[in-house]
This record gives sequence, structure tokens and C-alpha cells, in this order.
Amino acid sequence: MRHIAIIGSGPAGYYTAEAAQKAFGDDVRVDIFDLLPVPYGLIRTGVAPDHQSIKGVSRRYEKTALTDNVRFVGNVAVGRDVEVAEIQSLYDAVVLATGAPSDRELGLPGAELSNVFGSAAFVGWYNGHPQFAQLNPDLSGTTAVVIGMGNVALDVARILAKTPEELAGSDIVAHAYQALEASRIERVIILGRRGPHQIMMTPKELGELAHLERAAPHVDARDLPDAGEDAMLEPGLRKSVTLIREFAATPEHIRAEKRVAIEFAFFAQPVALLGDGKVEAIEVERTVLERGRAVGTGEVERLRADMVVSCIGYRTHPIPGVPFDEREGRFANDAGRILPGLYCVGWARRGPSGTIGTNKPDGFAVVDAIAEDVAAGRLGNGGKQGRAGFDALAAERGLDVVTFKDWKRIEEAEERAAREGSPREKFVDIEAMIRALT
Ligand code: NAP
Repeated sequence: MRHIAIIGSGPAGYYTAEAAQKAFGDDVRVDIFDLLPVPYGLIRTGVAPDHQSIKGVSRRYEKTALTDNVRFVGNVAVGRDVEVAEIQSLYDAVVLATGAPSDRELGLPGAELSNVFGSAAFVGWYNGHPQFAQLNPDLSGTTAVVIGMGNVALDVARILAKTPEELAGSDIVAHAYQALEASRIERVIILGRRGPHQIMMTPKELGELAHLERAAPHVDARDLPDAGEDAMLEPGLRKSVTLIREFAATPEHIRAEKRVAIEFAFFAQPVALLGDGKVEAIEVERTVLERGRAVGTGEVERLRADMVVSCIGYRTHPIPGVPFDEREGRFANDAGRILPGLYCVGWARRGPSGTIGTNKPDGFAVVDAIAEDVAAGRLGNGGKQGRAGFDALAAERGLDVVTFKDWKRIEEAEERAAREGSPREKFVDIEAMIRALT
């Protein structure tokens, strides 16, 4: 029997468990740990609440979770309740699937002003992540600035722009739904330090901006490169750039019918945030592209900013004793191998890129590496205690472990509490999740 511990129950964790089942069949026991009492990581707290079809992938993870050889071990923080080294002593292989939950630092003067958030915090707030439920952003100003031109920036801009009716069927949590209902934001500026050919936005997500009830995208046609240059782009990006061109071509009187403007500010590099305690403005420097890189021109402009959300990427949390690549913000690894018997997968391995589906080949690849190491005798000759050993440790420490069956009860309680038309009303603090089990 082989014992595998997976730390993190997001997509990378569950695809790894699925792959382990396929590779080792009945000869494996997999424990998936999560610091929250609820599974699915980014699916629950990262994917936008109005993208329910993407969240549907959790049904596939549930199938894996409900098999006899896979177990969910919720409400256990590895690194706090139990050390990685302890887990390693109990399991043949330990796979870190902890994602990249921290914001990359903006590192600008004024970044400490209030109403300036990183996307992990802001997205966590509207998705009910217990760590960020108390964020309480001030939406009473007219202008929000979103830094970055990736899909997270699009999610944030869209959520800020949607009407309560548009959000009603989503699983946005009540505190965010109510705050957005009272929001006065009528201008969302998406700031990119490079141009339309360098955006990281995918066409499906970008296209949604054209169909919002009260908001319309605005693009200044002067920022567009020559249309002939689009031919060089890979097909997905070419489609996105075509949409940007359509946004630029929309006549002003049509755009003016919508109260909220989502403005694309290209070639604008943020240099400082200004305000007296709370952010009031952002200073941006005009850029030009040199060999694809943004180079400042020295021309500085000040834009109003009542709120700023920086959506510039994420970092993995380091774990004491686990080699970490500071520059890349993820575990130092060679194709998923960190140290003998210690692996990483998903964003913790490769950094924050790709879609949910990208984690599937990742999960299968790390299990291939484990199988190779088992075959080569690099993981010892078995005999580790696995889940029985962990259960003894958990009992000794009085850990309040949440099982998958418990999670299903939490889920039922969330479904019962849903507002009309919404699939669920999430608990936003750990105590409330645990209380639902009593
Ligand atoms: P991303 O795609 O890497 O985009 C980050 C953006 O931030 C880029 O436009 C980048 O510009 C900009 N940026 C980085 N550092 C900056 C700085 N110091 N100042 C100004 N701008 C800066 O990251 P993401 O949006 O966080 O998304 C993470 C991953 O999740 C992506 O793979 C994304 O596709 C995926 N995702 C998918 C969906 C979906 O499919 N619906 C939704 C959300 C997220 P430069 O290019 O100039 O560096």
C-alpha cells in the first residue's frame, strides 16, 4: 500500500488524487488536506461567482472524493496544526498543491493607503474567503482603478460593473452583494503598462464586457496597433484584439447609453498612489514598447482613483523547510520534484498561469513522477503509517478534522440559505462552518 498526502484541495489537488487512483488503483490511499473546512480552493474562492459553469467542475472532484481510497481532511493547516516534516514521516509521497494565495506586491509609494487591495483580497472578499470577508471596501466613490490586463482584472471590473439583477443568480456572498448594490462606481479604469497586443485576457471573458446591462467598454482607437500586425498573433490573442478593436469602433452615442464606463488605459504604467489616508488618485507614466517591454517616457498623468485593485499576479506561500524560488514566487522544483518524497503541482509548481484545466495534465505528470520514484525504489519500501498515523496524531492534538461527509452537510446548509435564484449562500467564517455541523 502506498500513502499519498496532498496539501490543498483545489483543482491541482483533486486532479492529482484522480491521477493517483488511476495509476495505483486499490494500492493507494490518498489524504487531501485543506486548511479550510470546505474543499475546492480556487473553484470556491477564486473563480468569479458569476461563472457558475466553470465552478461545475467540482462535480468531477466530488466523484474522486467519494471513492474509498481518497479522503478529505479539512480544517487542518499544514505548517500550523501539523508540520510538513511530520506529514512526510507518515506518507510515502507528499504533494504540495497549495496554489498561489498571496498577491504579488505592487511595491509603489502609497500602496499602503486604505481602499487599495490586491486581487487575492478583493476576489476573496466577494467570494467569501474567511481570510478576507472583513475587507469592507469603500464603494462610495465614482472611480475604481484596476491594475493589470489579465483575466482577474476582467473578473474584478465585471463584478464592479454588474447590476444586482445580473449578480442575483451568482453565488456572490451577501455582504458583497449588498455592498455592490449600494456602489456608486461609474468608471472602472483597467490599467495596462503595455498595449492591446500584450493583453493576457482571453476572448470569451473579454467578450462578456460587451453584454453588460449598465456598463460598456471604452477603448481609445489611437492606442490600437496597425490592423495588419494582428496576423502575427496566436489565434486566441488575435480574437481578443479583434474584440478590443470592436470596443474602439463602438460609436460614442451607443456607449453613452450605459451609465458605467469600463475604460481600457493602455501604455500607462502606475508609478504612485496618492491620497490622505485613503487613496484618491493614481499617477501613471506613459510608456512606449521597446522589444515588447514597457519603457517609461517621463510623461506623467494623474487619474482619479477612489479605489484601487491590483490584479498583477500571485505568489505561493513559502513553507518553512521547503526550498522556495523567491524570484518566481513558487516552490523550487524540478518538474514537480522538490526533495525526495516531496512534490508540488499546479500554481505551487509553475506559478499562477493557465486555466483550471491546465491543472489536469499537471496532476497526472506529478503522479507519473511519483510512480517513477516508487519503481526506482527512491521512496523506500512502503511501511509508512499513512492515514492511521495521521488520525493518531490528530487525536493527540485534539484537531477538529472536517471530513467530506461533514462538508456535504455544510454544503446543504449553504444551499438552504441561498437567496432566490442563487445556488448557495456561503459561510464566510470558519466558526460558522463548524457550527453548521453541530
Ligand atoms: P496574468 O494573466 O498574468 O495577468 C497579469 C497582468 O498584470 C498582466 O497584464 C501584467 O502585465 C500585469 N502586471 C504585472 N505586473 C505589473 C506591474 N508591476 N504593473 C502593472 N501591471 C503589471 O494574471 P491574472 O490575471 O492574475 O490571472 C492568473 C491566471 O488565472 C491566468 O492564467 C488567467 O488566465 C487565469 N484566470 C482565468 C480566468 C478564466 O478563465 N475565466 C479567470 C481568472 C483568472 P505585463 O504583461 O505587462 O506583465
